[in-house]
Amino acid sequence: MKYVIVSGGVLSGLGKGVTASSIGVLLKSAGLRTTSIKIDPYLNSDAGTMSPFEHGEVFVLDDGGEVDLDLGNYERFLDLNLGRDNNLTTGKIYSKVIEAERRGDYLGKTVQVIPHVTDEIQEWIERVAHVPADGKEGPPDACIIELGGTVGDIESAPYIEALRQFQFRVGRKNVTFVHVSLVPVMGPVGEQKTKPTQHSVKELQNIGISPDLIVCRCEQPLNHDLKRKISLFCNVPPDCVITAQDVDTIYRLPEFLHAEGLDHRACELLGIWSPEPNLQPWRDIVSVVKSTRPSVKIAVVGKYVDHSDSYKSLHEALVHGGVANDARVELEYVDSEEFEKNPQLVEKRLAGAHGILVPGGFGQRGVEGKVAAIEYARKSQTPFFGICLGMQVAVMEFARHVAGLDGANSTEFATECSHPVIALMAEQRTIDDKGGTMRLGAYPCLLGEDTQAHKAYGVQEISERHRHRWEFNNTYRESLEAAGLVLSGVSPDGKLVEVVELKDHPWFLGCQFHPEFKSKPLKPHPLFVHFIRACAEHNNLG
Ligand code: GLN
Repeated sequence: MKYVIVSGGVLSGLGKGVTASSIGVLLKSAGLRTTSIKIDPYLNSDAGTMSPFEHGEVFVLDDGGEVDLDLGNYERFLDLNLGRDNNLTTGKIYSKVIEAERRGDYLGKTVQVIPHVTDEIQEWIERVAHVPADGKEGPPDACIIELGGTVGDIESAPYIEALRQFQFRVGRKNVTFVHVSLVPVMGPVGEQKTKPTQHSVKELQNIGISPDLIVCRCEQPLNHDLKRKISLFCNVPPDCVITAQDVDTIYRLPEFLHAEGLDHRACELLGIWSPEPNLQPWRDIVSVVKSTRPSVKIAVVGKYVDHSDSYKSLHEALVHGGVANDARVELEYVDSEEFEKNPQLVEKRLAGAHGILVPGGFGQRGVEGKVAAIEYARKSQTPFFGICLGMQVAVMEFARHVAGLDGANSTEFATECSHPVIALMAEQRTIDDKGGTMRLGAYPCLLGEDTQAHKAYGVQEISERHRHRWEFNNTYRESLEAAGLVLSGVSPDGKLVEVVELKDHPWFLGCQFHPEFKSKPLKPHPLFVHFIRACAEHNNLG
C-alpha cells in the first residue's frame, strides 16, 4: 500500500481537496487502484450537525455517513464509493479512545494524546486504507490522505505527529508527503512571494515531517528561479516544486499537474513504475465546459444561495448532465425569500431560465417562495427538477393548486395544517437526538413503467442516497393521484413515495433522494442528463 499524504499551509481554501483528488486521478490513470481518507480535525463526530452555510454541503455516502464535502470530490474524481470511516474526525477518534478507557483497555495507564490518540489515528488510517472503494475485490494500491485545516493549527497537531510516526510504521518508501502552499503576488510589478511557503514548510519540518513535493498555488506559473529558491529553502529538488496555477475549471487540474511532472515524481518517490496516464476523458470534459456554444441556463431556487459550496454536488451534477448533452450549463442561484417579499419577481427572475431546480433544504425560511417558483415552472411548462425538500414542496404546490387541498403543507413548517401532505413517519416522531438520526444513506426504489424516471434510468430498480426526516404522507396518495400526480418511484415494500412527476409537462420530476451525490464527471447521473436534455430541447438549444 502506498500513501500520499496531503497537507496545506498558509491559509485555507487553497483547493487542497481538488489538488489531492487530481493526484488521485493521475495515479488512477497510471493504473493504480485508489482510495482516500479525509481527516477533519474538529470535535464534531461528523459533518451532519454542521451548517452548510459555514462548512459547505454535508455529503452523504451509501452507508449513511454524513461527511465533509471533500469526500464528494474523491468519489467524483476517482469514481469511488467511500464509507463513513473514510472521513476521520477528532470527534470519532476521541470517542473511541474514551470508550476504550472506560472499558478498561488501558487499565493502570495514563491515557494521553501521545501515544494513545496518535496510535488510534494510525490504526484507523491503516485499516480504512485497505478497504476497497472501487467496487473491486482486495485492497487498493494507493491511498490519498488529506489533512484538513492548515499546518500550525492547534487542532491538527496530533494528526501531524501521528502521520510523522506513520511513515516509519508503513515504511518511508511507501509514503509521500505533499504540501500545498500559496505563492501570493505583491507590489506594483506583481512579484511572487515565496516566504509564506518557506514558513509553512518550516512549520512542518519542526514537527519532523519533510515534504517530498511542494505544490504552489499561484496566479502565474513559477519560473525556474523561484522554483530553485523554494527548493533551497524547503529542502527538496527543484523538480519537486510544482506549480498549481489557478484554473478556470477544476477538470483541468489533473492535466496541469501532469504537465508539471507531479505524478512522475510521486511515482519515483514511491518506487512504482507508471505508464503515461490517459487524460483524454478529462480533456473532453474541459472542451465541453469551456466551449463557446450557448449555455443551458438553470435557476436554482434555494436558501443557502450566497455560499456556492452549500450546493457543491448539485452544481457538479448539473455540469455533468450538461457534458453528457454536449452543453455548457450556467447556474443562477436565486434566493426564494425574494419571491415572498415581492411576488412579481417570480416571473422576472425565472422567465429567462431554461430549467428550474429546487434543491434540498431544512426549515421554514423561503419555503413559500419555493412554492411560487414551482407553480411558475408547472404553469409555464418550464422543465422542473425538485430534490428532497424540492420534491416535498412540489407535492405541496400540486396539492394546493391542482388537487384543491387548501392549506396543504409539510408538518416541518406547519404542525397543525389542514392537509399535512408531507409528514413525519412514526419512527421519526420519537427521536430527539439531532446527529445521525435522519433517514440516511442508500435505499432501493422501484420505478413505474412509462415514466420520465424510468426513461432516464432505463432500469426498474435503482439505489439512491437519502438525507431527510419527512416523507410523502400516504393518506393523500389517492387524492393526489386522482388529481394527476404520477407516483413514479416507490420503495420496494410500496410504503414510501420516492419519485413524483407530472404528465402533460415537458419534464417535471421530484425525488425524495439526492441524486447529485452519485453523479460523476465520467459517469453523469441519468436524472441530470435527462433534465438538462429536456431543458435544451424544450428551449430549442441545439
Ligand atoms: N427538511 C426535509 C426533511 O427533513 C428535506 C430534507 C432535505 O431536503 N435534505 O425531510
